[in-house]
Amino acid sequence: MLPYRLIYSEQYDLNLGGHVFPSKKYKWLHDRLRWTRFAGEEDFLPPAPATDEDVLLVHNAEWVKKLRTGTLTYQDVLRLEIPYSRQMVEAFWLAAGGTILAARQALETRIGFNVGGGFHHAFPDHGEGFCAINDIAVAIRVLQRDGVIRRAMVVDCDVHHGNGTAAIFAGDQSVFTLSIQQFNNYPTEKPPSSLDIHLADDVGDAEYLQRLGNGYRAALTMFQPELLIYAAGADPYYQDQLGGLSLTFDGLMERDRLVIWTAAQQKIPLAIVLAGGYAESVEDTITIHANTAAVARDVLDSPQRIR
Ligand SMILES: [Zn+2]
Repeated sequence: MLPYRLIYSEQYDLNLGGHVFPSKKYKWLHDRLRWTRFAGEEDFLPPAPATDEDVLLVHNAEWVKKLRTGTLTYQDVLRLEIPYSRQMVEAFWLAAGGTILAARQALETRIGFNVGGGFHHAFPDHGEGFCAINDIAVAIRVLQRDGVIRRAMVVDCDVHHGNGTAAIFAGDQSVFTLSIQQFNNYPTEKPPSSLDIHLADDVGDAEYLQRLGNGYRAALTMFQPELLIYAAGADPYYQDQLGGLSLTFDGLMERDRLVIWTAAQQKIPLAIVLAGGYAESVEDTITIHANTAAVARDVLDSPQRIR
């Protein structure tokens, strides 16, 4: 058995059809992890959907009602950039439940892995860029409400800035947000994170790892979180359709090692969420996410052998 649980539901699929966001990637990643015998069915744990009470810790009542009752305006749907459906809404509530469960698992077994989530563009009162509700923020608020943690850190390595997460936690001394992104990319407006690492176009493995490493280590030393949520976006990959950085498979695995191993060394519970990934070949996106799962296993199985 794996040394941590994979949180997954078949209902994670956002039902988007031919959209650039490959919402079947959750199922494809599940299937890849099974076919390669990386994981058995017993390694997967199904989440319960977040409750509306949980979601309302982050989002305002009007936005939750619009999603629940299917009363989004034309403007709302344009900003969200995905078509509205009941299935889509259920999938977002389930993804938030998955990140809550991954965070609880992390506190028990050091790592929790949500085979979904990472919807960092969602704001309290609206959704944006394929993100209706912010599962990362909901998970942190639920664990704080339940008195399980006080201080949390988000390390957002999606190629796009974590604007929703930054806005939600702005001015909140209990949550540190770190976001590393291609500057010349969506979203145009980037509300400041606690630490933003803005990268030029086409930055490759070496510069990315150096700048992430410096910022991440400094942030950990300064802030000392009780929980870390890692958005392991696959879209800094050089063949991503929506990204303009130049990371390779190896570089992305080094990134995963840096984040996961450092957290393990400092005994900080780590919840991993997938976030974006739009490679020209969807197989590449699945490979990048599967590699993150493998790095997490290797760090827990033999921490001393990993740099
Ligand atoms: Zn992204």
